[in-house]
Amino acid sequence: MSQTCHCYSCNVPGHSLQKPFPSNNEDKQNLILQICKRIFEAIQHKHTSTEISYNGKEMEHKQINNVTEVENCINEEFSQLRDNDKILNYEIKKLLIGIWKIEFKWIKSNVNPLVKCLLEISMKWYDPFVNYIHLKDEQKRLGWKAYTDKHVKEGELKKYLLENLEKYLPGLEYLFEYSWLAIDDGNNYHEGDLIFASDVGIFVVVGVKWLDVNSGPAAKKSIEKEVRKFKDLAEKKFKGKYIAIMGATFINNPDEDSLVNSTLEFIENDKIIAQILPEIHQTRSKSKTTLITQEQESSGWLYGSLTGLATIAAAASLLGISSILLKGSEEYYLFDNENTVTEAIYDNFETEIEQVTISLDEEYLKKVIDIEDTSEIDSSISDNNDSILEIDSENDNIIIE
Ligand SMILES: [Zn+2]
Repeated sequence: MSQTCHCYSCNVPGHSLQKPFPSNNEDKQNLILQICKRIFEAIQHKHTSTEISYNGKEMEHKQINNVTEVENCINEEFSQLRDNDKILNYEIKKLLIGIWKIEFKWIKSNVNPLVKCLLEISMKWYDPFVNYIHLKDEQKRLGWKAYTDKHVKEGELKKYLLENLEKYLPGLEYLFEYSWLAIDDGNNYHEGDLIFASDVGIFVVVGVKWLDVNSGPAAKKSIEKEVRKFKDLAEKKFKGKYIAIMGATFINNPDEDSLVNSTLEFIENDKIIAQILPEIHQTRSKSKTTLITQEQESSGWLYGSLTGLATIAAAASLLGISSILLKGSEEYYLFDNENTVTEAIYDNFETEIEQVTISLDEEYLKKVIDIEDTSEIDSSISDNNDSILEIDSENDNIIIE
């Protein structure tokens, strides 16, 4: 088993970077994005703490090799949140021989500033993905034009949402998928509904449903349930390509014939992230240049200061390369099926490509082929049968599987 690396190179393989940042910085990118992801997940579940474990071994790209380097990396990005802003506390503790636990804690009243800071950090480290997200949006919008929804009214509602994204989903204006999942539940084919992406790594799965006048309150509940299911599936299917996934419902007003008063509602606590996202989105282009410059100036530490701490070899059964162990063991069991899933997406993608390439200019066609060749093959997942050590932050259990 291998933990998914969240760096750009592992998740958009072969799709070359448009600029040097952050090449040769994959482990750092992976570590920081995984910490952001972990804290976002905890916030989405209304928790005020989370933790990750490190087994002291080299990470996927052999750029971070011991706990000192992990600590340096975390301090560089997060110490201001602890020491100056006092909105995030964290501590690295030695748990067992060769095992470290990094605990993150915050208080409820600081959630909003914490989300804002995390989005800023995500924005910086997710930046290499942005070009891929933009190309995907172009390609999906072209495919969408040739696509006919099986449910006519829901198709109209989806079209309306796509045309009014700024109003309903500010900061999440990139179409990432519109038909990515086929489930035969006996009577209907659900198609995963819409997924939108932002340029800071936040995705949203939107369940679009048309209600008629006779739909009772139970109908709304069942839509929420469906979105939760789609969100879970999307988390696994697109793992490594996002930092946080939110869920939302988009429903027409059944008492009106018009779509104008349709409503978008986030499920569970996802609104916490969604409401701060537009502000970050607006400042992105302004701050982008500055952030890249800062990063280029500070990136030398990783290669220049490798000292310290001999790593005591962990038990042979512990996870090897991946190093960062996250909660959520069900994700690990999916890898056996991963090829099938990837192939299904890839097939779907190829069909879309055929549909949309007829009237494309040469330059665009090159871009599309680039995505087709690379982005949908998730090379980051492999299975080497290593055991998993999982630390459950809620119950403080250690599970060795
Ligand atoms: Zn990687």
